[in-house]
Amino acid sequence: MPRKIIHLDLDAFFCAVEELRQPSLSGKAFAVGGSPEGRGVVASCSYPARMFGVHSAMPTAQALRLCPELIVVSGQHARYGEVSRQVMAILRDETPLVEPISIDEAFLDMSDVPEPVESMARRMQCRIQEELRLPCSLGVASNKLVAKIANDVGKSQVRTGQPPNAITLVPPGQEAAFLAPLPTQALWGVGPKMTQALARMGIHTIGQLAAQAPEVMQERFGKHGYDLVRRAQGRDDRPVITEHRIKSISKETTFAHDVADERQLRRVLQRLAEGVGRNLRRKHKNASTVRLKLRWSDFSTISRQRPFPLPTDQDDDIIAAALQLFAEAWPSGRPVRLIGVGVSGLQEGWRQLSLWDEEDGRERKLQETLDRLRQKYGKQAVRRGVDALWD
Ligand SMILES: [Mg+2]
Repeated sequence: MPRKIIHLDLDAFFCAVEELRQPSLSGKAFAVGGSPEGRGVVASCSYPARMFGVHSAMPTAQALRLCPELIVVSGQHARYGEVSRQVMAILRDETPLVEPISIDEAFLDMSDVPEPVESMARRMQCRIQEELRLPCSLGVASNKLVAKIANDVGKSQVRTGQPPNAITLVPPGQEAAFLAPLPTQALWGVGPKMTQALARMGIHTIGQLAAQAPEVMQERFGKHGYDLVRRAQGRDDRPVITEHRIKSISKETTFAHDVADERQLRRVLQRLAEGVGRNLRRKHKNASTVRLKLRWSDFSTISRQRPFPLPTDQDDDIIAAALQLFAEAWPSGRPVRLIGVGVSGLQEGWRQLSLWDEEDGRERKLQETLDRLRQKYGKQAVRRGVDALWD
């Protein structure tokens, strides 16, 4: 039996919340974002603003050039979080199988509900409109991948200056046909560099990608090349995950004797960071924040954390960030009793796939090979760039 998966996405969520607070904004070109003087960017923009070419992540100054009458309001993130919880509560009232994937998006698995999935989608849209006065769009398909893309496509086809309130349904069996005419970059796992690499192979549409031999693509792009072909064919059997049990991953080491040697500390840190990266990849997660923990000889402990520029599961990113935190936090020569690295803000790995490019493809291949070797021969078998064992 095909599954019934819904992807729900609120329409211009932050703006919709602002309109409830200030009804005079309704129907106007406005954006939630940082000030142009402070080099702020647009976090969300109203549909009338989009008619001027304004979009999120655009510098506010540029948005104002495109649309001089644009009203810029600063966001109130605590309020958005609160409204988001109200939305998720309505969804959980419909089914316990809800996977929130961002503040304004969620997947739902409605497979066990006998009602036709389209009427369920319509009812949820009505409830969120009536109970919270918020517009939303839904994509409906037999898997997460196609439901999400269906929603993206459905929303993008409405260009009226109004919230799309779209419901886009892909019937079971139609997945590949629905995806086929779309450009490759509509697919998860295809960012700008990958788009170029595929274009050089004459592959421009998802349909062309779906027709490739998975082995050939694997040869060229590693395991993700193989996965890409499967996705292009509309295949995706990932479940809707209702709770993300792992909240963080960390590794730490307590020294038998306090260590004050910088080289040794950096080397241990690198090894711990590699352990964290391996764990992340095994769990198919990307992390958004890195944390360093240091305990001194008197047992006092400090921890420092900072976000990654982009969520990642790559050793190099974790190592670089951890070493940077270490350089800032460690008073040179101070003996260390315990050192640890952790990551948090975990999200499903596929969401970051769009960021890898050809170079990362090679990097990933290396990473996968290293992981396999370590699995086979033990953790000590392969070290990158580490000359001697510290322990
Ligand atoms: Mg949205």
